[in-house]
Order: sequence, then structure tokens, then C-alpha cells
Amino acid sequence: MPTLIHFRKNCIGCNSCVEHAPEHWKIAGQDGKSDLQGGEEKNGVFVKKIHASEKGANELAARDCPVKIIKVFK
Ligand code: SF4
Repeated sequence: MPTLIHFRKNCIGCNSCVEHAPEHWKIAGQDGKSDLQGGEEKNGVFVKKIHASEKGANELAARDCPVKIIKVFK
């Protein structure tokens, strides 16, 4: 299963990832940064396994993130 990784502390809240994959990303009300929905935190980095069918949309999110803090691994 592919793995999504989010280095959340550097998020600038641009909403691009939400537009690409709204089932995985949501802007948090309290600080305006994006939350990886269902992500598990490890030392401030959020990690989540996704289905292969969800990889494409998240690769676009990673590509278009202006601060390059989304990674998608096989
Ligand atoms: S695209 Fe990147 S900077 Fe923009 S909200 Fe998503 S994670 Fe944050």
C-alpha cells in the first residue's frame, strides 16, 4: 500500500491539497494548516497508508504543494 507523509509544521494552508484530494486533506480551524485525515503522528510528521487507487490524486497534491511537504511512497 502507498504511504502518504505530511510534514505539517511547514504547511502554509494554501488549500491546494484539499482541492486535489478532499477525502484526505482538510484545513484545520485552529491554525489554518492542512490536516492529513486519519494520519498518525510521529514526531510532528503525519503518516497514513492509502489505497493504490488513491495514489494519483495525492501525487498531484504532492506535486502542487508550494512548500513540498507532502510525500507519496510506494
Ligand atoms: S498544499 Fe501543502 S502548503 Fe498547501 S495546504 Fe496542503 S500541505 Fe499545506
